[in-house]
Amino acid sequence: MKNRKYGKPLGNLLSIKSDFFEHNDSMLEMSARQADALLIQKKREKCKICHAPISGEPLYKSQRMDYYLCPVCGHVNSAHEDTEDFANRVYLIDSYENNYSEEDREKYRNRLKSIYEPKAAFLIDALKEDGLSKEDIKLLDDGAGSGYFVGAMRGMGVSATGIEISSSQVEFANKMNGEEVLKQADSREIAGILKNTDANVLSFIGVFEHIINLDEILSAIRDNGSVRYVFLSVPMFSMSCVFEASHQHCYNRHAGGTHTHLFSDSSLEYMSEKMGFEELKSWKFGSDMMDLYRMLCVSLEQNGNGRLKDYFAPKFVKMIDELQETVDKNEFASEIHLILKRR
Ligand SMILES: [Zn+2]
Repeated sequence: MKNRKYGKPLGNLLSIKSDFFEHNDSMLEMSARQADALLIQKKREKCKICHAPISGEPLYKSQRMDYYLCPVCGHVNSAHEDTEDFANRVYLIDSYENNYSEEDREKYRNRLKSIYEPKAAFLIDALKEDGLSKEDIKLLDDGAGSGYFVGAMRGMGVSATGIEISSSQVEFANKMNGEEVLKQADSREIAGILKNTDANVLSFIGVFEHIINLDEILSAIRDNGSVRYVFLSVPMFSMSCVFEASHQHCYNRHAGGTHTHLFSDSSLEYMSEKMGFEELKSWKFGSDMMDLYRMLCVSLEQNGNGRLKDYFAPKFVKMIDELQETVDKNEFASEIHLILKRR
């Protein structure tokens, strides 16, 4: 692939994701409840991206859900549709505390620095190479969550703001950043905001996979000529899917839960074309080996092989970045960061 960067050292992500190891059973239960919510929705009739009819045999089944590989665009769709009712059932109203300790702020800064600053630097460098200096970027981040990406961009001197559905997350983000960096927006307002914003760069970090009215959002971006670039990260059909399908007693982080469909290089290309955009630069690095490592450790514990797990774990951790980079370079990684440019 031209202009594609591969790999990213895990660093302290191992400790950030420790919940997945320690709370496998409760995470698996949560995922089962989310699967219950999806299984009662209507059957998906067409591919989420290219609208080709879904027919024939599923490619695989995991945690009671069938997954179909689209023969036209290569997208992977769950058998049931993500509807508004599904969203109401799975996106819980999160409650954040009103008082934040210095420890919370420290955690926030660490996460912003280790996870979001590299993404921000990647975007800023690519746009600079393409002739847009950071002083000229006006970024709007949709689905801004706790404001980490907006915070990282602002920290690097970029004019950046965000919109987010959850008002408690907006409040949290604004408190952590010490100023109003995010605004609350209801889901039905978002297409209108994207259609009318004067931002020249839009970002969607881990957002497209959750959008029910994705077609409407893509049209809004296509129709807003001010938007020159779109930066997005999405989950991909990847090795993690295979590890999940083969480890049914381990928590499925990737396919399942709120992820009801997964992208591929070809479905992303199809989607970009539909938006009137093309790939400028991409960065592929996944968590597949992290998932495999977790599933092996959890399974060894489950079948009474705790001592082997303790022996094996540090050896695997030593290899993990190298193994993942091989997966990344072979285009079967769980995540992509993609910068699209208007054609
Ligand atoms: Zn398709």
